[in-house]
Amino acid sequence: MGRDTSSSGFSPPLFPGSILALELTDFCNCNCIMCTQSVSRKIHKRGKGFMSSDLLDSILKSIADSGARFDKLLPFGLGESLLHPAFPELIRRLLDFNSDRSFFSSIDLHTNATLLNEAARAALLNNHSVPDTVSFSLDAIKPETYWRIRRNRQLESAYNNVKSFIDHRESSGKSLPRCLIQFIVMDENKDEAREFLEYWSDFFRTRSLKFQVNYDWFPPMESDTIFFKRLNPFHNEEMADAEELHRSVADGLGLINSSQSDRIISSQEFLDLARPEARRPCAGPFKYLSVSWDGELTVCCIDTSRELSLGNLKQTELFELWNGDKNHAFRMAHILGDLAPMPKCLNCHNLDSPPLSDQEVTTWMRQNGQAELIGRYLERIGK
Ligand code: SF4
Ligand code: SF4
Repeated sequence: MGRDTSSSGFSPPLFPGSILALELTDFCNCNCIMCTQSVSRKIHKRGKGFMSSDLLDSILKSIADSGARFDKLLPFGLGESLLHPAFPELIRRLLDFNSDRSFFSSIDLHTNATLLNEAARAALLNNHSVPDTVSFSLDAIKPETYWRIRRNRQLESAYNNVKSFIDHRESSGKSLPRCLIQFIVMDENKDEAREFLEYWSDFFRTRSLKFQVNYDWFPPMESDTIFFKRLNPFHNEEMADAEELHRSVADGLGLINSSQSDRIISSQEFLDLARPEARRPCAGPFKYLSVSWDGELTVCCIDTSRELSLGNLKQTELFELWNGDKNHAFRMAHILGDLAPMPKCLNCHNLDSPPLSDQEVTTWMRQNGQAELIGRYLERIGK
């Protein structure tokens, strides 16, 4: 049976859990030690820049024309989106495009909050039916720790901007976005995790605002959240230490309870799952469309150097690339466990985000002329 490239089983609609990441810029006013920004000045192996309005329009047109639907839109990539000179206009356009929730189930922005001025705030606060979220990456409560981690001295501005943002949301009667106050657990900040938790808990309590505290993506974030996140280290061999530290800090804060602890996968389990012969396919080539500011389309956020690029949207339409031969080959490489054409993936420990079920994989195989290989796939992953 041949392959039907017009549908490919993913567009429209895309599988649950699908993500579209649009990098508005790769410039940043921080240089955080845990971010690729601190590793290279040319993070995509080329100069930095800002996404043009024309490129954004062409992407939205492709989505509207195809009827594709994503679980999440992430209007950021490897930079600080609020540095984009047209940020308020662009974010408004995205929110309006999706105001009746036709294309994205949620819109989630990450920002360091240092540039969260009145215009950005006004563009972001809304009453749409989409449960969008803004994550404020703070990671510290002491200025010297903030400087050590983010190499930026604007901690006070960032804190004031976040508090003012939430206060304006409440006083203006807007219901959205939900706010996530993020603290990535590292050696540099582990000793102030409790102070951070108490500070932001007091902030929410004194305003009688409902909030939750998470150390994992579970339970789902349904209100404002203080989030103690595990560090995603640059190298696999640092994963065990990052996990151990995260677990001990979360435990020390009293966040780990028995119903949640079985969700934590140890590093060894990760490494076992990553063995080529047992490794499950990554959802990236199936569910993660990542577009850099200059139109390059790749299959995940890990691929910062664009080694897995499918092409450029300035030359080829979004879904023509996404459903084209190159991504078909990427998906088959992951399904068959032969990652030789994708060396980047061999050392990647992103094995479960977003999730990809066997049913989704086998559905795709049936729709794309690969039904005869389903048995081989299930045997390879021990099913
Ligand atoms: S603020 Fe975000 S994008 Fe900028 S360096 Fe830090 S982690 Fe990277
Ligand atoms: S295995 Fe890693 S590098 Fe490869 S597609 Fe998945 S997330 Fe990207």
